[in-house]
This record gives sequence, C-alpha cells and structure tokens, in this order.
Amino acid sequence: MSVFSLPDFADHEQVVFCSDDASGLKAIIAVHNSNLGPALGGCRMWHYATEDDAIRDVLRLSRGMTYKSALAGLKLGGGKSVIIGNPRTDKTPALLDAFARALNQLNGRYVAAEDSGTSVADMKYLAERTPHVAGIEDKPSHEAEGMRSGDPSPATAYGTFFGIKAAVKRKLGRDSLDGLRVAIQGVGNVGFDLARQLKEAGAELWVSDIHEENLVRARTELGASALAPEAIYAANVDVFAPCALGAILNDETIPQLHASIVAGAANNQLAEVRHGSALMHRGILYAPDYVINAGGIIDIYHERIGFQRAALLRHVEGIHDTLLEIFERADREARPTGEVADALAEERFKR
Ligand code: NAD
Repeated sequence: MSVFSLPDFADHEQVVFCSDDASGLKAIIAVHNSNLGPALGGCRMWHYATEDDAIRDVLRLSRGMTYKSALAGLKLGGGKSVIIGNPRTDKTPALLDAFARALNQLNGRYVAAEDSGTSVADMKYLAERTPHVAGIEDKPSHEAEGMRSGDPSPATAYGTFFGIKAAVKRKLGRDSLDGLRVAIQGVGNVGFDLARQLKEAGAELWVSDIHEENLVRARTELGASALAPEAIYAANVDVFAPCALGAILNDETIPQLHASIVAGAANNQLAEVRHGSALMHRGILYAPDYVINAGGIIDIYHERIGFQRAALLRHVEGIHDTLLEIFERADREARPTGEVADALAEERFKR
C-alpha cells in the first residue's frame, strides 16, 4: 500500500508506526493538523482484519478530529491512534507501557484519549507513564450530578440537545421544544441522556434500541414509545436523532424519513458524502454529526485547561450558534450543511 497517495492521507502532517517486540505492540499514531494546537484524539484498539484497514481507519478518524476541534472552537489539532489487537485478550500492562513510551517520543504533538477498545482506566494507567493523555480527571461537580469521571457522554448529550434546539429554531421557527416529536435511534449513554433532556423540555419521544433493557428504561423512566429498529426511520416525527450507529443515512433510509430535521450524536451518519445532498433535496435539515456531537471533546479540552463547570456548559451550548451559522450559510449558498461545515472548519484551521 502507498500511504501518501491514499485519499484519506489528506495532508497529514505526521504518521508514526510504532512497534515493540517484547509486548507485541503494533500501533499507528496519526497527526493530521496541529495549526491550532496539539493533536488530540481517541486511541482505538481493534483486531483489524488487515493493516491497510488500520491505516485507513486512523487516517480518516484523525482528519475528522481536526475538523471537529476547529469548529468547536478548541485550541487543538486533530489526531488519532490505533493499536492493532484484540482489546479483550491482547491489552496487557506491557503493551500499554510500550504505547506510553511511543506517546512520550512524540513529546505532546499527539494527546490520547479513550475510544473503542480502550477505557478511562486504560487512560489513567497511561497517565502514570506519560503526560500526553486526556479524559481522565475526576470532576467532583460531574459526580454530584451522577456523571462518571472522564466520561464525555453527558457533555455530548448536552451539546446534542442544544444542536436540536438550533435546528428546530431554523427549520420550524420556534424556540420551545414543547410538544416536539422526536425519534431517537439508540438510547445508550448519549441517547438516553438526550431523551431525558428532551422530555424535560416537553418533547414526545419514540425510541429504538437493540437491547431490550434500554427500551424498558426509556419507557418506564421517560414515557417514551418503543419502535422496532427498522421502524424508526419512518416514524411520524419532527426530528430524527441518530444516537447509535454510523452510515444510517443512505439510499434505503433517506426516502423513508418523515422528519424534517436529522440531528443526533452518532458519528459518521452519512453513508457517503452525496447523502448530504440527498437530504437537502428532500428538504430535510441535517445537523452535521461532528458539529452537533462535539460536547465530549469540549469536555476533555476543559479538563486540560482547568475544569470549571460553568465555562464548560457555556462552551458546549455554543454548538447552538455554530450550527445556526452553518444552517444560514448553507441556505444562502444552496449547499449541503456538511459541505458548509467542512468549509468553515478549513477557514479556521488552515488560517
Ligand atoms: P452506547 O453504546 O452507549 O449507545 C449506543 C446504543 O445504540 C446502545 O444502547 C445500543 O444498544 C444501541 N444500538 C446499537 N445498534 C442499534 C440499532 N441498529 N438500532 C437501534 N439501537 C441500536 O454509545 P454512546 O456512547 O451513547 O454513543 C452513541 C453514538 O454517539 C455513537 O455513534 C458514538 O460514536 C457517538 N458519539 C458518542 C460520544 C460520547 O461522548 N459517548 C461522543 C461523540 C459521538
């Protein structure tokens, strides 16, 4: 494979291949862009079928972090790392020690955080060996509200809630969510918390999940109506909020949508870029996923600059105005919102 000519390489500043015979570490650290600050992004551990899959994944994800942090107004660049291996069987202390040494060699150009296959506990372990780790701090004011230390989900849900408010304001011309009909796909960490906030604001909820206990919780605690996983797209609602999987906005699902707004926390919602145009042509307002779900990275950033709850909340609430700016510009320029978000991010990090 030629790495430089891969479409996902996309101007990466630095890609580091790390290996350690003794522990079996095989990792790739990608720094996409550091114009705005050190490249921060999750460390994913996965048993990739091929090394090419691992390279593509880390490049795609690290580029995404540059755009996300730029639009969230953070002094951070974009980066990501992957450790190739089975997180259940291959994640040994020796392997994490070797990964910490690799982080130290980059001397802060890349800062790791938890991701699929790694945990806050792993990050805490790394933090005893390198300063270049984030998302680990115990936040007393978080815990007072039932939030787990180092867990970005509550901030992600809070930002998604404000993103939905922005979309409703733009598309439906109203500030109140009272009586708003919302379908949430996936009521896990983020989806359930979002559902709770929507309920408190007076919204009516329909939810789907593949885990029965999550549906029961949403039904009993929030009075939500449960739908079968495949029925969620055609639900007769104002807002469809994907909070489970990627690639769920595609040729099959977009024609089914009844909602005039798609605004949820899931990553990589568009199966392909062209599906952003498909939504626009159907008159559906799409809140670009990486803009609306930036609460988590904002939370991690605040941990780095000295956590103050009020400042964090204000920053996350800013997702509302960023989205309004994107929506207005997208209308003015008759372009899909995702394209406008990318352009706005590039204006910030390429400056
Ligand atoms: P989670 O695993 O806690 O929740 C996902 C839920 O979706 C689970 O309850 C799962 O059972 C359900 N689900 C899976 N497949 C489904 C299907 N086909 N139909 C309906 N439900 C299904 O994950 P999370 O932390 O809540 O994250 C949700 C989404 O938001 C993910 O795409 C994640 O990448 C994205 N995201 C999360 C954060 C964060 O801070 N946690 C930040 C940014 C983006």
